[in-house]
Amino acid sequence: MLQAMERIIRTDTMGEIKEILRGVRLLNPLSGFDGIVDVAVEKDCIKWIRKTSDAPSGFWLFPGIVDMHVHLRTPGYQKAESLQTGLRAAVAGGVTCVGMMPNTTPCLDSLDPVIAVEELGESYGLAEICPVPCVTAGRAGEVCVDFEEFARSGITCFSDDGSPVKSNKALMQAFQSIAPFNGVVIEHPEVISLAAGGAVNKGLASKETGAKGIPESAEYLDVERCIGVLRDSGGDARLHLTHLSSPESVRQAYEASKNGLRVTCDVTPHHLALSEEAVIALGAVAKMNPPLRSEESRKMIVEMIGSGMVTAIASDHAPHTVEKKNLPLGEAAFGITGLETLLSVTVDVLVKEAGMKPIDIIRLLTSAPAAILHSVFSDIAPGKPLNMVLFDPEQQWKYSSTFSRSSNSPFFGRTLTGKVQRVWLKRELYREGEFV
Ligand SMILES: [Zn+2]
Repeated sequence: MLQAMERIIRTDTMGEIKEILRGVRLLNPLSGFDGIVDVAVEKDCIKWIRKTSDAPSGFWLFPGIVDMHVHLRTPGYQKAESLQTGLRAAVAGGVTCVGMMPNTTPCLDSLDPVIAVEELGESYGLAEICPVPCVTAGRAGEVCVDFEEFARSGITCFSDDGSPVKSNKALMQAFQSIAPFNGVVIEHPEVISLAAGGAVNKGLASKETGAKGIPESAEYLDVERCIGVLRDSGGDARLHLTHLSSPESVRQAYEASKNGLRVTCDVTPHHLALSEEAVIALGAVAKMNPPLRSEESRKMIVEMIGSGMVTAIASDHAPHTVEKKNLPLGEAAFGITGLETLLSVTVDVLVKEAGMKPIDIIRLLTSAPAAILHSVFSDIAPGKPLNMVLFDPEQQWKYSSTFSRSSNSPFFGRTLTGKVQRVWLKRELYREGEFV
């Protein structure tokens, strides 16, 4: 594969073509194009794409990943992550747009702090931020934020993530308020009374570790509630159900969409790749909410993704300090980092276990989440600004260093398959482990 990398010709001495990526497998999720081509890259855009007579290099080239569920911990918890470290971790993972969750301290429930975070993020010239402010003031689940004010600034995605939108009345009001501007509520589905005090899956993990269990019903009963409220609201608004871990949740989301409701959902790479065995073996570094489920549920979810029942894959990147993770299971914080491993883990599992085509996997990571967030998205085409990732699907690498400020990942120290080589957004940002 090194040889293949060397065949990417650099012509940056004279003229406008900076380099030609030769024999790359171009995966364009919107058009469905999947073929081997040469791509001429200028400083800030694609010059041309041509059929190649070269042998395939083995590399994939596709649009930058849109990770719709990311915790950047700013403001309030920069010990675990800063905007800059989080956005660097994003780029290193091939992510060029992040949906930023609002459960910061204070939480993002009014326009000014949201704009401030977005502008600070932009100043780094790394991945773009798609802000996802709260649905309710203080994420308390009762009083809705001023949706119209956000919409006037082009912000149309809302979530109380970390918690569900607790009151049906607030959820109903949210749906009715956001429908006119085609907004979306991103729900973290959880029935608090069923999950309270829990740390791991209710079943083998709770039995083996002695920690309190969280049943799958704590998730799918809230999925059912939200779909019901959406239906009662008139059904014009959009509901996105995030980080689903239970096959029953996925089934309900899919059924609702088949019945004409505008319901979408995502699953995280860790729920695809790991079962509750991981938290039994590794402890708090594999503690997250929702918890890793049974091997049976994991397999069913992988199968459901393969049959097109899941809309998107998102990392739920949730950095934490060592102090907050290095605790007994019951006390440790929920969540793991995921931006840098999202692509490798997802591609590896979905190719091997679900037999999915690369382009269908890339769609789950790019154009599908972009359509939910309404973020700017385009295929890789002549004249388009640069927004793309060069990926080696075969390369084995050890995940042993990170651009994030935190390393609370069960994949840390493990050997993974498939590595991001280079990333462009407006210009070249990242090449072989380093920022350009
Ligand atoms: Zn959540």
